[in-house]
Amino acid sequence: MCGVTGVYAPGRDAARLAFFALYALQHRGQESAGIAAADGGTIRSHKEMGLLGAIFDEEILARLSGYIAVGHTRYSTTGSSIVVNAQPLLERSELGDFAFAHNGNVTNTDELRETLAPTTLLQATSDSEVVAKLLVESSGSMVDRIKAVLSVARGAYSVVLCTQDELYAFRDPWGVRPLCLGTLPDGGYVVASESCALGTIGARYEREIGRGEIVRIGPAGFQSVQVEVKDAIPALCAFEYIYFARPDSKLNDRSIYMARYAMGRELAKEHPVEADVVMAVPDSALPGGIGYAAESGLPYIEGLIKNRYIGRTFISPDQAMRSRGVHLKFNPVIENLIGQRVVVVDDSIVRGTTTPRIVTLLREAGATEVHLRITSPPIKHPCYLGVDMATYDELIAANYSVDEIRARTGADSLGYLSLEGLIAAIGRRRDELCLGCFIGEYPNVPAGHAARPSPV
Ligand code: 5GP
Ligand code: MG
Repeated sequence: MCGVTGVYAPGRDAARLAFFALYALQHRGQESAGIAAADGGTIRSHKEMGLLGAIFDEEILARLSGYIAVGHTRYSTTGSSIVVNAQPLLERSELGDFAFAHNGNVTNTDELRETLAPTTLLQATSDSEVVAKLLVESSGSMVDRIKAVLSVARGAYSVVLCTQDELYAFRDPWGVRPLCLGTLPDGGYVVASESCALGTIGARYEREIGRGEIVRIGPAGFQSVQVEVKDAIPALCAFEYIYFARPDSKLNDRSIYMARYAMGRELAKEHPVEADVVMAVPDSALPGGIGYAAESGLPYIEGLIKNRYIGRTFISPDQAMRSRGVHLKFNPVIENLIGQRVVVVDDSIVRGTTTPRIVTLLREAGATEVHLRITSPPIKHPCYLGVDMATYDELIAANYSVDEIRARTGADSLGYLSLEGLIAAIGRRRDELCLGCFIGEYPNVPAGHAARPSPV
């Protein structure tokens, strides 16, 4: 999972706009971040491991001069967590230099790597670099080269790239990862993984970039090229609606907040329970919890407060602190919990390591009953398309029944939203979504793909 943005803003400092757009996408990846800017001649870039706010300062941004910029914030799914895998990647081609930023996972990287010239040296260990090299080694205009990539690369790829004087964006023919287009009031353009990044920098949401669409913005103006996607079925990732995207974003005209709220309502219909209060695990499950409370008529309370600043720390807790686990991140509001039968809404159970600790924490705070309600179906299959969802071995729902999971989490009851309930809440048709992690069918994973993704 990653966040990408692209800015084309004549007369303005594009790197600064890209910085604030990326800040709104920080939730999509906290491992590394980078921005590249072009001024019509030269491309300059800066990338480092860590959070955006720690990487960039005025001095660095001032060096990234120019009216075009692309930015990336990384959550590693393939390739290791090292700075050569940070993006944007800088490439040199016959057409000139370009900077490249990718969100998603390409599933036929090995096959594509074999089509590259034997002399091509790969520095990074990611699928992204292979796609960037395909652009370098193809022929024709940049649009021709992107078309060539769209015809051979499988999997998920929402990409922004800038040359010395143009901005490009394209999306795989299945449309797995989001990518939207906005306009700036003074005539510029912004591309971003999520619409929440547009408002932040004063851009207006225009539309989603279509699957198999190539957008080109440059001295000649705005151009959109649609490639044929006849063999590809639409497959927007359902987990974007459940967990990944920010609630103030919208995907395909469906507000993430309203989708999660509807998931909570559906869940209350499917799994009602006699209880006193409803709470949600912060932050991603809050709209779902509010929806559950509204449908059930039970009061909504805050049972856990999340420390917003803990993020990723490189200081390891000592052993005594480690055994307190989730306490680093969550603190209970005892007065809201003591003596109460509590419905706890969360968005997902993946590995099942955090959830039992949350149940214990709530019981220690005085909850007399803990009823877990999850706004997604059981995650039984890994994701090959960009979400960090482990292997079959690690996925608790791939190995245990719902009642066994309930016992392992220590909850009094456990209810998962049905697939039908999820689809209804998202408000799309079933055949428009990727539901691979729930049903094990993927839109574009080549036959014979490893039964489980290898952790690189
Ligand atoms: P588990 O019990 O599976 O260890 O943790 C469940 C929690 O993990 C849920 O609160 C859910 O919001 C969160 N979660 C789901 N997917 C991801 C992810 O990709 N990254 C992180 N950091 N948390 C996730
Ligand atoms: Mg969570």
